Amino acid sequence: MREPEVLVPVTCPQCGAESVARLDVSVVADALMAGTGLPLTAKCHSMVWQATPLEIEQIREYLVASCIDLHRSPAVPASAELR
Ligand SMILES: [Zn+2]
Repeated sequence: MREPEVLVPVTCPQCGAESVARLDVSVVADALMAGTGLPLTAKCHSMVWQATPLEIEQIREYLVASCIDLHRSPAVPASAELR
């Protein structure tokens, strides 16, 4: 089974271009719960940076929204996430 991903908009600190980053839900959830930094990457530049508190707040909202979507989908039973 594929790792569920959350899509989050990121802004490249180098050129300001906006793109969408795909992050593993488990990685994001671990980082949010542990309070550790969350590395983000931009496609236009080979840049990796730590999410700012504002970005982390946005990512948290996207994560919550995508979890709701997962639970709504009949193809993905909620119990599957516990295994
Ligand atoms: Zn860039």
